[in-house]
Amino acid sequence: MTMDGVRLSQLAKCSRMAAYGALGTLTDELPYDPEESWFRGKVYEAVAALRAGSEWGTEYDGQPNIERQRVVPWPLGEGHADVFVRSERLLIECKSSVSDSDIPLVDGMRQLQLYVHFDPEAVAGELWFFDPRKGAFKPLRIRAEAMDVATAERLVDNVRQAMDGGDLPPRVCSHPKMGPEHLCPFVETCFDGWVEPVARID
Ligand code: SF4
Repeated sequence: MTMDGVRLSQLAKCSRMAAYGALGTLTDELPYDPEESWFRGKVYEAVAALRAGSEWGTEYDGQPNIERQRVVPWPLGEGHADVFVRSERLLIECKSSVSDSDIPLVDGMRQLQLYVHFDPEAVAGELWFFDPRKGAFKPLRIRAEAMDVATAERLVDNVRQAMDGGDLPPRVCSHPKMGPEHLCPFVETCFDGWVEPVARID
């Protein structure tokens, strides 16, 4: 599925990443197979849609209750939320990771908060986090409210400013090794010319 404009999922991870995407910056050669990640994501999305249907019903008001890949418009593009439960006005975003880092969880929560903020119908969200190492089909579920207006507006303004020729937003990573944790495709550009600080031992 293609997306129009700047990716809301990238804004959730890092405004600078979203700005690079908006500016058409060339991506790095990724250290993982994006097609395999895409398929894994689709499997968990399908599992979440089935679980949501069994929990809240597959029909509501004579219409399907479970919507997949719901389009969420925002000022610079659109996002696609994995699942929307119409009867609950609830967005579900699925993430899966085999890393011990909490970055995928934190990025997923921010993405969901942005979706709930921008979706005109959603009133809440749940992050469904799947760890293939611990029972592949039973997610950890974390409730989320909408991102506060001031934070969401600041993130959007950060990207808009870069698109208008202003400064890039600051890095969220203090070291290039952190970029892959955010699934960032712009690490080489972002850290071009960066020199690792030398540790001082007095
Ligand atoms: S490397 Fe880190 S700071 Fe740079 S764009 Fe990617 S996520 Fe943002």
